[in-house]
Amino acid sequence: MNQHIPFLDLVTPHRELEEEIVALVRDALRHARFIGGPMVEEFEKEFAAFCGTKHAVGVGSGTDALRFALLAADIRPGDGVITVPYTFIATTEAISQAGAEPLFVDIDSRTYNMNPERLRAFLLEQCATDRATGRTIHRATGRPVTAVIPVHIYGQPAEMDAIRELAEQHRLTVIEDACQAHGAEYYSRRDGRWQKAGSMSAAAAFSFYPGKNLGACGEAGAVTTNSDEIASRIRMIRDHGQAQKYYHDREGYNGRLDAIQAGILSLKLKKLTAGNRQRRDAARRYHELLRDVPEIVLPYEPEGCHSVYHLYVIRSRERAALQDFLSARQIGTGMHYPLPLHLQKAYAGRMDMNGSLAASESASAEILSLPMYPGLTAGQQEQVAAGIRAFAASRAVQPVAS
Ligand SMILES: *Cc1c(COP(=O)(O)O)cnc(C)c1O
Repeated sequence: MNQHIPFLDLVTPHRELEEEIVALVRDALRHARFIGGPMVEEFEKEFAAFCGTKHAVGVGSGTDALRFALLAADIRPGDGVITVPYTFIATTEAISQAGAEPLFVDIDSRTYNMNPERLRAFLLEQCATDRATGRTIHRATGRPVTAVIPVHIYGQPAEMDAIRELAEQHRLTVIEDACQAHGAEYYSRRDGRWQKAGSMSAAAAFSFYPGKNLGACGEAGAVTTNSDEIASRIRMIRDHGQAQKYYHDREGYNGRLDAIQAGILSLKLKKLTAGNRQRRDAARRYHELLRDVPEIVLPYEPEGCHSVYHLYVIRSRERAALQDFLSARQIGTGMHYPLPLHLQKAYAGRMDMNGSLAASESASAEILSLPMYPGLTAGQQEQVAAGIRAFAASRAVQPVAS
């Protein structure tokens, strides 16, 4: 009777758009402007309007977007860039590939986002202000610390007011990793209004990897910014540092957005707001279905945050057993992410530990992502919840006989 419930459904949304996508590809074959061109410019305008920013610059991926944002914001080789270890590795790859060094602060264990108190402690206890330049210096390494990258993890905005205030005090450039947060909103008390993810910092990175809330049919990404200067630098960096063909002001990258992906993204952007609403409705339904299940921790959405639920992540001390139990009932789940970055082999021996990262470590051991996508039905969610309840009942601790 149990129907298979995938963790993610990437087939249905494209079936609904199939005719339009095919027409667009056919069109592209006729005009043959495959890289850049009017379809890319059109999408850039639409996405900037969606995010409430002056510019959006299309690039090859979310990783490109992060790396180009750092380069365009003038983060220099040898600089320290603060982020969290509880993210996808692209965040720190981009920092390293821009020549800088990742520095980690821990997350808040309820929201899984950067803990501003830990950021404050890091800046006050582990950094100093250089008297001559006013710059922030990491005491242990002597490196200038020049930027901070909060990640809006799972589609929920980080605590941007506190992070921006600390960044201003310590002269750090803020770059948002908004790769999971297309359309998420944050109420800024400082500015007295709701703001979209991607509009709250010097520059923000978005990924349009197929599984993201706005996904291409291939690789794609964008940087959003209100700065004319950063936007024009990114346009150069993504295209081999050229402002004019074959005249190179600097070395850049091959990091452009292709026209067919931009066209597909324009079609799918029209459905993003409705898709995000469906995700929020699904999250509310999970909450109703699961809130009284013991031993399970549900996502926490603070006041002033509108998550777009890229992922719906619960926590269980018996994560592995729960995942197996659900899998036996044909329910797909995921882990985002099972090992924090400071414990990855890629960084073995490379990270200066800046105090405890315990919240990241314990979250990584316990989190489980449930099926979440716009077409998820109430019936499917009931089946997921029934599976979790059955698991909890099978594990219920017997009362101790007195
Ligand atoms: C997906 C993702 C990225 C990287 O995006 P790509 O398009 O895959 O390069 C970066 N950061 C986070 C948090 C992501 O989820």
